[in-house]
Amino acid sequence: MPRGMYRSRTFRRIFVKVPGNTVKLHYRRRKPSKAKCANCKKLLIGVPHELPLKMKNMPKTAKRPERPYGGMLCSACTRQLLKQKARGG
Ligand SMILES: [Zn+2]
Repeated sequence: MPRGMYRSRTFRRIFVKVPGNTVKLHYRRRKPSKAKCANCKKLLIGVPHELPLKMKNMPKTAKRPERPYGGMLCSACTRQLLKQKARGG
């Protein structure tokens, strides 16, 4: 029986082939949820969802699109907002 903390589904289960040709069950942390647009809740493209330890080694340019509101709003909502601002609304 695994340890109590591994009995829940907090950790995902991975089958790993180990030397000696046996398959063992390993436990890994689940990935964080995917980034969503703050306005329309659509899934954002170009924003990885990785564990913090992987995200911290990633360049900033790989973590969100390089444009105003990149990583916060989707492209359609950004366009809409910028037009609205230009019109003074
Ligand atoms: Zn949006």
